Amino acid sequence: MLKAGSFEFLDEVVAPGTRKIFNLAIGGLYTQKDISVPIAVVHGKVPGPRLLVCAAIHGDELNGIEIVRRVLHSSWLNNVRGTLIAVPVVNVLGCIQRTRYLPDRRDLNRCFPGSMDGSLAGRIAHIFNTKVLQSATHAIDLHTGAIDRSNLPQIRVHLASPKAEEMAHAFGAPVIVNAPIRDGSLRGTGEDLGIPIITYEAGEALRYEEQSIAGGVRGVRRVMESLGMLTMRKRGRKIVKPVVARSSAWIRAPESGFLTLYCSLGDRIRADETIGMICGPLDDEGVLIKAPHSGIVIGRTNLPLAYEGEAVYHIARFDKVTEAVDVVGEFQTHMQERSAEQFTPIQNA
Ligand SMILES: [Zn+2]
Repeated sequence: MLKAGSFEFLDEVVAPGTRKIFNLAIGGLYTQKDISVPIAVVHGKVPGPRLLVCAAIHGDELNGIEIVRRVLHSSWLNNVRGTLIAVPVVNVLGCIQRTRYLPDRRDLNRCFPGSMDGSLAGRIAHIFNTKVLQSATHAIDLHTGAIDRSNLPQIRVHLASPKAEEMAHAFGAPVIVNAPIRDGSLRGTGEDLGIPIITYEAGEALRYEEQSIAGGVRGVRRVMESLGMLTMRKRGRKIVKPVVARSSAWIRAPESGFLTLYCSLGDRIRADETIGMICGPLDDEGVLIKAPHSGIVIGRTNLPLAYEGEAVYHIARFDKVTEAVDVVGEFQTHMQERSAEQFTPIQNA
């Protein structure tokens, strides 16, 4: 078997078959203490792809942090081929402040590729892009919904990139949404550099949500299997085959008021079905919210308050909606079972 060479990362050398922890300097606090991004590199004995798995580019999106932590402490990672570059918290400053943004109020995921002499966000983006992203051959970026908004576990990918599309299917989240590249996103910079990159969106900001976390850990593992970084597991039960949404759209509050939603994540809705109600605090009856088209709920607000025009449901449309309903149902059942299973900690050699 071909022996892997050492992996050079952040001016250090990681020997084959070892792990190393790094602290990537990204600037300082007002108190002039350094701020750094914690990174773990797991370098296999056998050569292979270099996969970046990163989370919390939006500092309040926490599920991905726990996904990365669990991946790093999974026993199966001991037999990795190639290299895993794991970054649980990219936006450390945002995470400290429990916010999506950086202290300069910029969204880090709109500031890539960044520049050395740009804004605070631009400089951090530049450091992360040149020192971390460009060390990888593939990438998975972990996100959640915003505060008070939950996403059904889903992959966002630009389907024009066949390698990224392959990763999206391998991940095994029930729904794949074709998401054209946004200016300034890590995904966009990855695509420009020829690094296939997918985004996993699951759960809500500032929460740990077990189904989303379990689905994320399994997804990372499955992508690593499909890239040849891990031996493919024999699966006893049927594998969920993700369905690609034809399109997706937000349903918005028809007026301001107090909101009651009748549908949960993953529910099928039919055109003209009543899916919610909005009313004033003294009203007997409110205004009904009707579904403008059929589909599946892939995102929704958890807050019973809305101003007119605020997004209430995110609905994905499918060519074969019944197939999509089955896939989502299977995923949810499987993840509920998985959540109950014991998590195996790493065996230290
Ligand atoms: Zn995000």
